Amino acid sequence: MPALCRSEGTFVVHYDRGEQHVDRLVALLHEAERSVLLRAVPSRPAFRVVIFSDRRRYAAACKSMDPQNARAPNSPAGAAADTLYICRLRDLPLSRLPRLVRHEYAHMVINATVGNRPLPRWLAEGIACWATGYGGPSEGRLQPGKAVPLEQMEAAFLGTDRAQTNLVYAQAHALVSLLVQQRGEEALGDLLRRLGAGSTLEQAMLASVGMDAHALWETWQRQPWQGKGTPIPPGSNIQP
Ligand SMILES: [Zn+2]
Repeated sequence: MPALCRSEGTFVVHYDRGEQHVDRLVALLHEAERSVLLRAVPSRPAFRVVIFSDRRRYAAACKSMDPQNARAPNSPAGAAADTLYICRLRDLPLSRLPRLVRHEYAHMVINATVGNRPLPRWLAEGIACWATGYGGPSEGRLQPGKAVPLEQMEAAFLGTDRAQTNLVYAQAHALVSLLVQQRGEEALGDLLRRLGAGSTLEQAMLASVGMDAHALWETWQRQPWQGKGTPIPPGSNIQP
C-alpha cells in the first residue's frame, strides 16, 4: 500500500510521496460525484482510491481485482471493484484523466448500489460509458448487421481481441444510451436499486425499463443508422 493517505470527503486517497497530479485526481473525483448518477442512486459509502507508483504492484492489483479479464494487467485506465478505485497516474496522459475518472467512479457507484452481485458487463460498462459520454475507440464505428450478439458480448469484453472488445464497449454505450433516452436516467437508477434488492436482471429490466435485455437489443438494432456510426438515439449524449 502506498505510504501517504489523504481523506477528502467521501474519498480516501492512498499515494506515494512524489506522486504528481493527486490534486487533479481528487478534484475530478469530486466533480464526478456531483454529476454522475447522482439522482439515480441512494447514499454512497466512502470510496477508497489507490494511486500506484510501482508498475508491477499495480499490474498485480489489477489482476487480482478482475481475474477473469485477460487484459486487466495491461489496462492503463485503472480499475474499480466494489468501492475501490486503483490507477497508475504515471501511465496516463493527463488529458484522458477526466473521462477515466468519471468512468471508474460510475463503476464504484454501480458496485455500491448493487452490492456484490455480478452485473452483465454490457450493463455495467454501458452505464460507465454513458456516464462519460464516450464508448471507447470504436465509438461511431459500429456498422449495421455487424454487431456482436448480446449473448456473446460478455466473452468479447473478457477476451484478448482488442477490436472485439472495443466494439462491445461501443455497443454497450449505445444500448444504455438508448435505454436512458427512452426511459430516462431515473429508470437506470431504479434498475440498479432493484438489482441491489435482489431482483434478477430480467425482473429488474421489465419493472424499471419495461423490456428485457433482448428487447432493448432488438430496439437498438431497429434504430436508424447515421452513416457508418452507431445508431444514434435523438437527444442522446453520444458523440460520434
Ligand atoms: Zn469500465
